[in-house]
Amino acid sequence: MLPATLERHIINDREVCLRIGVDMGGSDIKFGATNLGGDQILLPEIVKRPSLTRQGPAKTASQMVDGIREVIAKLGADWAHIANISMTVPCPCTPEGAIIEATNLGTPETKSQWQLPFGDTLAAAVEEFSGIRIPVRAFNDANAAGQDDDVERFGVSTTRRSSVFITTGTGLGGCVMINGSVVVGVGQAGELGHVKCAIPAQYAARFAEETNPPCGCSGHQCVEARASLQGLIRRIGWALSDTGAAFIGADLQARGETLNPAVLAKLRDLHAQEPKLAAYNVRDLADDDQDPFCRWLLEDWAIVIGCLFANLAPVLHPNLFIIGGGLTEMSASAKDWFIDIVRRVYGEVNSQACFDSSESDCEITWSVSQDQGWRGAILMAIRAEQA
Ligand SMILES: [Zn+2]
Repeated sequence: MLPATLERHIINDREVCLRIGVDMGGSDIKFGATNLGGDQILLPEIVKRPSLTRQGPAKTASQMVDGIREVIAKLGADWAHIANISMTVPCPCTPEGAIIEATNLGTPETKSQWQLPFGDTLAAAVEEFSGIRIPVRAFNDANAAGQDDDVERFGVSTTRRSSVFITTGTGLGGCVMINGSVVVGVGQAGELGHVKCAIPAQYAARFAEETNPPCGCSGHQCVEARASLQGLIRRIGWALSDTGAAFIGADLQARGETLNPAVLAKLRDLHAQEPKLAAYNVRDLADDDQDPFCRWLLEDWAIVIGCLFANLAPVLHPNLFIIGGGLTEMSASAKDWFIDIVRRVYGEVNSQACFDSSESDCEITWSVSQDQGWRGAILMAIRAEQA
């Protein structure tokens, strides 16, 4: 049953007391619920449904209705208790929740179906099932992840603070937070993966083979083109070639490390089967075995992320730079190794300016979010209502 102490409001003749959050991921859709203030998680366990975005928005909306139905059943609540539904989508949105570019949704055949205000589609599906019109807002998933990190760190307070958040994964998502609120601009502020950064001269040689890498956004030289799973998959092709392996081997030798031929053979084998498998193995071997070749490849990410933060510092000079996403799953020692490189590069790039990491109040740190983008979406909705 719903706690009797829950704050209740009357909206459109309904006595509402909960907010629903929905996180639309690549493999799963996750659901959760909070009180109206967003500071109390009402369901200890996450409800999940398989993500069927490839089958189009109508099928996805029906999956979501089913997930929300389970959440309210577990809470002993009713559809009428829901003040609103906040959801994440893995693509750029307008502040109104329309999907701007469905780059990560659907298949080539169903992609065009996703160019729509999906919030309206979900609201219509909910109304058809429950007979109640419940408002829905959609937000970019990286923004929701950044918002969730902020809530985990600072609670729902709006005290003075600012941070830059990135999430590492298939691509590189970003979020800029000011005083607990996400900066969305006209809609696409914080798309930090598509910032173009010049590679510092001391790292030019390692990227000399590919000075103008293509990005999924159809641009070139975006941060995401190098510091992402997609970027790593492309990079491995070069690294495993005779030229690439010789370059990396010589670079490692110069710093007293050696390339393990067995690792190279294993990765070549995996790469021939499935390039993505090889990329996953690079991260695992860099972490579990501290393999020099695999660490050299992940260093690419650390260098580029250090450059990104250094380039953002003069614009935003935030209290925190936060790294989230898949890399946070690495062991503590691998995370220490990685973030030390990010900090070093940040300092190198900014060494002549007043944003030197040793003198500034900027901190570079790991995300503390527990993968609760659904809660981030709820908080984004609350902030939008307060604006
Ligand atoms: Zn791009």
